[in-house]
Amino acid sequence: TGPVTEAVLGALAHADSVRRLEVRANADTPEDAARARALGAQGIGLCRTEHMFLGERRALVEAMILARDDAAREEALAALLPLQREDFTGILTAMDGLPVTIRLLDPPLHEFLPDRTELAVRLASTAQPDPHDRELLRAVERMHEQNPMLGLRGVRLCLAVPGLMAMQVRAVAEAVTARLHDGGHPRAEIMIPLVGTVEELRLARSETERVLAEVATETGTPLDLPIGTMIELPRAALTAGRIAEAADFFSFGTNDLTQTTWGLSRDDAEASFFPLYLEKGVFGVSPFESIDQEGVGRLVELAVEAGLAVNPGLETGVCGEHGGDPDSIHFFHRAGLDYVSCSPFRIPAARLEAGRAAVTDGTGTSDTR
Ligand code: PEP
Ligand code: MG
Repeated sequence: TGPVTEAVLGALAHADSVRRLEVRANADTPEDAARARALGAQGIGLCRTEHMFLGERRALVEAMILARDDAAREEALAALLPLQREDFTGILTAMDGLPVTIRLLDPPLHEFLPDRTELAVRLASTAQPDPHDRELLRAVERMHEQNPMLGLRGVRLCLAVPGLMAMQVRAVAEAVTARLHDGGHPRAEIMIPLVGTVEELRLARSETERVLAEVATETGTPLDLPIGTMIELPRAALTAGRIAEAADFFSFGTNDLTQTTWGLSRDDAEASFFPLYLEKGVFGVSPFESIDQEGVGRLVELAVEAGLAVNPGLETGVCGEHGGDPDSIHFFHRAGLDYVSCSPFRIPAARLEAGRAAVTDGTGTSDTR
């Protein structure tokens, strides 16, 4: 190792010794998990499960959505179960001994179905259309939403599609059990997305606990996994005291929280009037890049305070893009969060910044800089 490498490693080691914020990674493959771990991640703060339903598995997801009856849906879910179990086993193995927060399926269901217009054009231009395509088009039309990001996604999806949540929780539970039998130290946590009221979380939690207990009875292995929620809607932040009654942890989804607090589409904003707003100084920096301390940040502070007042053992973190942004990391340190979670490649910088945040508020020594 050269002198530069040594200096960087020294700075990282020092930052690690003074920082109070843990640094976890957003990762959803064993490869990303291993890469993040090598860069110093102390676990996975967000394992998104949506990509696990794409590629070759699309047909099964389509079958689950289009299922004519319960039996057909259960068949599709039964085929997905071992695939999900394998996904989770791989990630838990790569992160053995460290926490892995697995988020239940979040995106709007229509994302797994073909594009409505393309399908309609294909059907219209075919002399003898495939009956499956006709059925597919009907389903796509039935599921069409004007504002999918405000529609059937997150916990709503978990509660609306019978068996989906149970399948995912069972896959986690079976992966944990398998790892335990192999002598591993799996530390899976289950996270419910897009909760707006404690009632949604209570329903999702009781179904999660039911499945965990079922698997524990079948295998004779107790399963006591933390169950928590994302705080990514203003209503969730404002009612955090109620929500904390049913949560073991809060993870702030600052991407959606920024979108819903500002009423700005996270998918379109940057492409439209953002340059103008930056030029006119309405924003110093995009609120999707760095935490808006007066608005979104205020909701984070309120929710942390209210959550801890009700549930002193509540763990708090952030897993939106802001978790890897230097200024935001300083803010989250001051707000008293337990961890930030970011893309693997941002881990080393996040460790350094978390160390600097501790130095800045006087809890670390000054030679981090
Ligand atoms: C968020 O909303 O900040 C978040 C982490 O979830 P996602 O980006 O997957 O919606
Ligand atoms: Mg989100």
